[in-house]
Amino acid sequence: MGSPSDERIFTLQEQVKKLQSQKDSLLKELDAVEERFEKTDQMYRKFLPIIIDGVTTGEDLFSRTCNDLSQALKKGESEGRIVYIMEQLKTSILKEGFTPHGSKQKKGLFSGFKKGVSLSFIDEYKLRYHEVVNNLRSNLDEKYSGKLDNIAARIKTAEDTTDISEIRESVFSLVFVYISDTNQDRGKVNDFVREVVGKILEIESNLSASYQQTDSMFQTNDRFESVLDAEMKRLKQTLDVASSLDILKIQVSERLASIESALQKKQVKDRSIRDIAEKNRQSFKSGFTKLKQELDEATRYSEELEKKLNQDQLTGAFNRRAYDKRIKDEMERFLRYGTGFSLLMIDADQFKLINDHYGHAVGDKCLQEIIKRTLPLLRKNDMLSRYGGEEFVVIMPETDLAGGREVAEKIRQTIEKIEFIYKKDKVKVTVSVGVSQVREGDKNSQQVFDRADIAVYQAKAKGRNQVVVN
Ligand code: GH3
Ligand code: MG
Ligand code: MG
Repeated sequence: MGSPSDERIFTLQEQVKKLQSQKDSLLKELDAVEERFEKTDQMYRKFLPIIIDGVTTGEDLFSRTCNDLSQALKKGESEGRIVYIMEQLKTSILKEGFTPHGSKQKKGLFSGFKKGVSLSFIDEYKLRYHEVVNNLRSNLDEKYSGKLDNIAARIKTAEDTTDISEIRESVFSLVFVYISDTNQDRGKVNDFVREVVGKILEIESNLSASYQQTDSMFQTNDRFESVLDAEMKRLKQTLDVASSLDILKIQVSERLASIESALQKKQVKDRSIRDIAEKNRQSFKSGFTKLKQELDEATRYSEELEKKLNQDQLTGAFNRRAYDKRIKDEMERFLRYGTGFSLLMIDADQFKLINDHYGHAVGDKCLQEIIKRTLPLLRKNDMLSRYGGEEFVVIMPETDLAGGREVAEKIRQTIEKIEFIYKKDKVKVTVSVGVSQVREGDKNSQQVFDRADIAVYQAKAKGRNQVVVN
């Protein structure tokens, strides 16, 4: 065991070590803050030249100095050189009697400089939203350009976060209008919309927390750093000059107490910064959740709309519109890759008589039943659509005439067996089916369709309830 003074010195050394490690972790935090500032620096070096080049056209001293500044930023020249050019710029502004309340463009530029070289939090937001608007502009058609112009103008004049959230809302409402207006492929529309919304969410979440905290974090760390340094210095002096152990003890504990209180203050401040950041994060998060929900709802609505657009209301089968789209795709595939398909045209026999005998409602039931019984006989890739009235078409990808005939025959037999009981009568329905296949030399799908149509006509002529291949 050492003497009591050894023990005290040991304790002191431990305290100093602890302080050292606290100092290290503070330095790390400072590094992180510096890194963030470096990013801001990179950002202004990237964007300021674009802005400067965009607003200065003249040959006056101010424009020339602006040009120098833009060049220096682009070349990544030292801070000293940039500050020097900025000084020149200030002189040129004074010389040419230029005031911040002059033209609108110059005002924006000047006030940007006044704030310091880096872009502010709001400016960064504005730039990003501008990118989003440009992205929308290049993807949406002309009729949205008026609305996009309005949003772009609002972005230009935005000054605070309230303006930014209004801009966000108008971007979202434009997107919603687009979703319900557009006739384009829903899948692609939804992907595009998701991409845009994802981009907005990313912008907001990246920028919201970091920028607001940096300043005050910097200040508290600075303050603590200087207290720590001063107290460490005094501690050292105390060790050097203390004449007795008791004095040493008192002075060390005083120093430690003052460090401790600085540390406590810092912790309280840190915690409040973290709390604010957390609150911000939570409010953004709930905002995002709400927006995401709205988007999901819009997407669902859009999908339902798409389904309705392609569905026949009476039978639930695909409709003529869906058929037209699919047959076009199949034909393109055939012309490009040579992948064939067959077509079945199903026409209910003497359907007029059924309506006349039993009424239209019974006729409708028969049509529904025909679809219900036919669907299970088809493959997943086949497409059954109601072409019109009592006529149905089946597109069968990668199926030859023999395959088509086989399925047609199965359909004919299945329908023939159905017996509806109406009052005391048994209602029977039969169908005539024409089968055709895309051939070498076919230029469009109409040629395939016409052959199936002729085949149906032949089946009718031969006495109905038949399959004819053409
Ligand atoms: P064919 O054997 O020559 O095909 O005789 P058809 O009577 O079926 O032929 P036609 O084309 O002359 O008449 C088709 C009938 O189908 C006319 C119409 O009353 C009936 N029809 C068309 N659409 C519907 C519908 O949605 N519901 C009902 N119940 N009947 C329909
Ligand atoms: Mg018909
Ligand atoms: Mg018919």
